[in-house]
Amino acid sequence: MPQQSEYTRFSPSAAPGTFDHILPGSIVLVGIPSDENSSFMQGAALAPSRIREALRSGETNLSAEDGTDLGQESRWIDLGDLELGSGEVAFGQIESAVAGLLARDARVQSLGGDHAITYPILRAFGARYDDLTVLHLDAHPDLYDQFEGSRISHACPFARVMEDGLVARLVQVGIRTMNPHQRAQADRFGVEVIEMRHWRPGLDLSLEGPLYVSIDLDVLDPAFVPGVSHHEPGGFSVRELLQLLQGLRVPVVGADIVELNPHRDVGGCTAMVAAKLLKEITSVMLHPGAVSSSAE
Ligand code: MN
Ligand code: MN
Repeated sequence: MPQQSEYTRFSPSAAPGTFDHILPGSIVLVGIPSDENSSFMQGAALAPSRIREALRSGETNLSAEDGTDLGQESRWIDLGDLELGSGEVAFGQIESAVAGLLARDARVQSLGGDHAITYPILRAFGARYDDLTVLHLDAHPDLYDQFEGSRISHACPFARVMEDGLVARLVQVGIRTMNPHQRAQADRFGVEVIEMRHWRPGLDLSLEGPLYVSIDLDVLDPAFVPGVSHHEPGGFSVRELLQLLQGLRVPVVGADIVELNPHRDVGGCTAMVAAKLLKEITSVMLHPGAVSSSAE
């Protein structure tokens, strides 16, 4: 395959803009349809298009709860989905596309895909920021050294991130599947773990910017999001997660929403949750430090 510029890796039909026109400060949405590193079920590769369908559906509108209308926001750009090879080739494509956007002083939002994609995304962020904090919201710590013979499984991305020294702090919230191996990994890497059983509303995470937010949808209780590959009861309500996101007061420079599995969804409700989270995190990225109208 001939060497191509990173622009052409995006599906032209889904790309309303190109890298060339991305201005500094833009917030760029990229779909990363990859589920080849999922250990239990495939399906997450279908997620970006389902989330966009929910977002653009007449069932709702493009406004976040604070009134920010993404339909009127020229700084928010949907580039479409990344065209991907497989394995390390795909990881290289993800990393170079994100790096290309960061080089334009854009902030990058990704729609997975399974959680394995966050490792190549953070390789690009780690090269751009030397003081990045990652807020990782998940039922699972994803810290396995290897899982079923794979070191790039979606059970492993944060082990790779920490080994490579890509981030200054990793703060995990919502964890409820910690086992001895992953506990040892968390201790070894200095991961700050707030297990779901210890979380309470308003808990001060002492976050500082620049912040990257990685949202594995299974951090939510499966009662709210049946469309994920790993149902892990006892998670956040949608409202609790929204309040956590809306309460962020530091610059958010990147985010991902991963692990929607449309094969398991019921009536598209999980895709709609993902779309809502996307609207809210976009509002937070557009208005860093803003106090939500409900608190005024
Ligand atoms: Mn995960
Ligand atoms: Mn998970």
